[in-house]
Amino acid sequence: MKKLAIHGGSKIRKSPFPSYDVIDKEEIKEVTRVLKTGILSRFLGVWHKDFYGGPEVQSLEKEWAKYFKVKHAISVNSATSGLISAVGALGIGPGDEVIVTPYSMCISATAPLFYGATPVFADVEPEYFCLDPKSIEKKITKRTKAIIVVNLFGQPYDAEKINKIAKKHNIAIIEDSAQSPGAKYQGKYAGTLGDIGIFSLNYHKHIHSGEGGIVVTNNDEFAERIRLIRNHAEAVVEAKGVENIINMVGFNFRMTEIEAAIARCQLRKLKPLIDKRRKNVVYLTNKLKPIPFLKFPATRLGATHSFYMHPFLFDSKRAGVSRTKFIDAVRAELMPTKRRETEGVKVNFGYVKPIYLMPMFQQKIAFGPKGWPFNKSAQYKKGLCPVVERLHFEEFCSHELMHPNMTKKDLDNVVSAFTKVAENLDELK
Ligand SMILES: *Cc1c(COP(=O)(O)O)cnc(C)c1O
Repeated sequence: MKKLAIHGGSKIRKSPFPSYDVIDKEEIKEVTRVLKTGILSRFLGVWHKDFYGGPEVQSLEKEWAKYFKVKHAISVNSATSGLISAVGALGIGPGDEVIVTPYSMCISATAPLFYGATPVFADVEPEYFCLDPKSIEKKITKRTKAIIVVNLFGQPYDAEKINKIAKKHNIAIIEDSAQSPGAKYQGKYAGTLGDIGIFSLNYHKHIHSGEGGIVVTNNDEFAERIRLIRNHAEAVVEAKGVENIINMVGFNFRMTEIEAAIARCQLRKLKPLIDKRRKNVVYLTNKLKPIPFLKFPATRLGATHSFYMHPFLFDSKRAGVSRTKFIDAVRAELMPTKRRETEGVKVNFGYVKPIYLMPMFQQKIAFGPKGWPFNKSAQYKKGLCPVVERLHFEEFCSHELMHPNMTKKDLDNVVSAFTKVAENLDELK
């Protein structure tokens, strides 16, 4: 008799998993308070006291800077706009190159394009999935101006090695920490390890305000240039007496008072939320470790992980079945997560297709029809980064069933599903 749910057997889990709820009474109270003031944003796009925004925005920035032990925190309306403003603040322009990772949300690699710079892809570490320092070194040229490192899935990048390389070549580091608020490396918060760090407050992240982002830096000049880019720089520079007007073409990247009020509540919840994720991951990893064809990657030495996702690697040779078959069978045993039913069971294989394989890079078409701003030597062929291709197309898997609202019983269901499929692999052969 067939046992696996994918073949009509009975499912391990019959009701949806709990939703990831981080919004409660506190946020409702704060939003109501802000609504009653009638001022939902206090930014003015001219040189004026209100150029820096209203009380909620400014309080959030102070609290964020204090929490992360960094000199400046600048709120923006997304990590996407945060990354764009970081590239701008560094004075990067046409002809420059920026080293980026192929394994991330696409903006981590496309942000340089908005200033006419060319993204150059380096490969990732097979065990931690962040940019590999050895690969970075091979990609540095006279034109390299910055590296955009990503603290992927909650794992900090190798700041020790990569910061050294950057220093040696006089290159800036932009640190995309959208997936890693609260992770640490050598005692410092991820996001504060490079020259400019970016956090996301979108709905899918550890803590959120619907949409939103925060940029952090210890550099006064970068901070002020980011504030200018956030808020119509070109209309402000003259009155403010700004002399360096390179990249001072501004946007509206401003956060509202409502989002800032929510984000202030959310920041207070960050630590307990991450502690719970870590505890859940330890529990699951210990229970799943005996499955011989799954490998749960370690956290980098000297780092703490914040587990945006719980990654693992699948060895199809050892298992004797394909990764797709295995993950589909596990999914069939489980159920979706409440409020996110349309996303299906939160167990996946692969992550995003290596970014250089997107049509934009394959055809070198970004702005206009003539291939601007890619430089002629830019390489985006399949095979460019073999580690990321192997991870994405063969080995990499992840799940999100370790979020803080999961109970022990929920976690045990996840363990039972994996174990059941592992014990009945013959059914999949
Ligand atoms: C989510 C995410 C972003 C973009 O964040 P938004 O706030 O949605 O713009 C950037 N980089 C990484 C690694 C992300 O996960």
